[in-house]
Amino acid sequence: MKNKEISQMDLIMEYFKKYLKKEIHHPEIVDWVVEEYKKRTGKVFRDPDRGIRKLSQDGLLIKIKKGVYKYDPDFVSNRQLEEFTASQKAEIFKRDDYRCVVCGRGTGDGVEIHADHIKPKEFGGKAEIENGQTLCA
Ligand SMILES: [Zn+2]
Repeated sequence: MKNKEISQMDLIMEYFKKYLKKEIHHPEIVDWVVEEYKKRTGKVFRDPDRGIRKLSQDGLLIKIKKGVYKYDPDFVSNRQLEEFTASQKAEIFKRDDYRCVVCGRGTGDGVEIHADHIKPKEFGGKAEIENGQTLCA
């Protein structure tokens, strides 16, 4: 089940990688992956929309507007660079006293915390301590 999922995602990415930095409209990619998947596996690609949305949420595809996406390898690698490192996270948690800055609960209350970008990565927010805040999960 899991492998099937991955190869569907790979197929979507294959198309986007073929047309680097091109803005691709939803019907174009959906038609291609459905047909190609059928050709290669003999199976039906059930929900290509969900796959595209997932890849966009994961930061692999850039959403231009509703139903239009593109792939830009520079953007993807920049986003990966903007993850907080383990030591940055530790410093953010310490500064915020291991508590969520919104609700005040923290590890002492058995609540899981994580380091959040104040200015989101997709809007150019950097992996800097000043741009980090502790939130509950
Ligand atoms: Zn909270």
